[in-house]
Amino acid sequence: MVYPKPVWPIFGELAAILCGVLESNKPFKTGNSVLLGGETVEGIKRRYNALILAHNYQIPEIQEIADYVGDSLELSCKAAESNKDVIVFCGVKFMAETAKILSPEKTILLPAAGAGCPLADKADVEELRKVKSLYPGAAVVCYVNSSAEIKAESDICCTSSNAAAIVNSLEEEEIIFVPDGNLARWVAGQTDKKIIPWEGNCPIHNRVLISDIHRMKKAAPDAEILVHPECSPEVIDAADLAASTSGIIRYSRESDKKRFIIGTEVGILHRLQEQSPEKEFFILSPGLVCPDMKLTADVDMVRNCLENKTPEIDVQEDIRVKAFNAVSKMLEII
Ligand code: SF4
Repeated sequence: MVYPKPVWPIFGELAAILCGVLESNKPFKTGNSVLLGGETVEGIKRRYNALILAHNYQIPEIQEIADYVGDSLELSCKAAESNKDVIVFCGVKFMAETAKILSPEKTILLPAAGAGCPLADKADVEELRKVKSLYPGAAVVCYVNSSAEIKAESDICCTSSNAAAIVNSLEEEEIIFVPDGNLARWVAGQTDKKIIPWEGNCPIHNRVLISDIHRMKKAAPDAEILVHPECSPEVIDAADLAASTSGIIRYSRESDKKRFIIGTEVGILHRLQEQSPEKEFFILSPGLVCPDMKLTADVDMVRNCLENKTPEIDVQEDIRVKAFNAVSKMLEII
């Protein structure tokens, strides 16, 4: 698709300005001296005028070659701020789509073509329209882990770190919260508004059991248990803290405690250890491995993706503009 030149940078600039509010939560910047097929990552990126972004759940090898490692929204904002033509988003499809929503003038590449998100797939636009018709006075808040189509159908987007603040900022008293039911219930505990949860969940976080907490508490009684709010309400209640990936990283870095049991995807351990080398981190459950996140299996995939400029992520323009509104409204509030 050819974009009219004068219009698109405005979206990118606006997104970058809005994203400025996330500066207090900077994604981690990595080094680039790793060799890829005899050439440094820095050299390859220069040749393609590219930026490499890696989600916190990517394998360590991928995190090491990225310009930035962070959560999906932080990285989409980095893409919007960047003056690079090409963004390689090592993560899953909804993340690369969010980057495209904020930066339509850029080429957004997703190295693993099949990397989706079962949670995002749980929400269907037609179903959402039906639920909206049942609650005509309700606002729709979509978690960033949703497709561009669902974002376009929503009033405002949120992340796990700002979900309660976003909900509480709205005038409406009824909120349809899509697609994560566990996150919706966690937010319901932090607001007086009526939350109508979509019954989707992340199969990875949802498989953490209360017995995992009991087992790990016995094994490391001095350790604090930090979980993601995509976990079940019982697991959240039994943990010491529920927070986004960025919140978990920040909390463990600033805490006086020395040992932590982590209830989110195992890839985060690499960054936790990097940020707090003197502390110890243990994974709460062996099931905390997202197969979609592991589809970006090695650095050669990143190189091939750059060289072939594929798979490229595109978002239909009318959907993108509506989705941009939902994302930018969130960025104006937080
Ligand atoms: S960890 Fe869960 S929410 Fe995140 S990409 Fe995997 S399936 Fe989706």
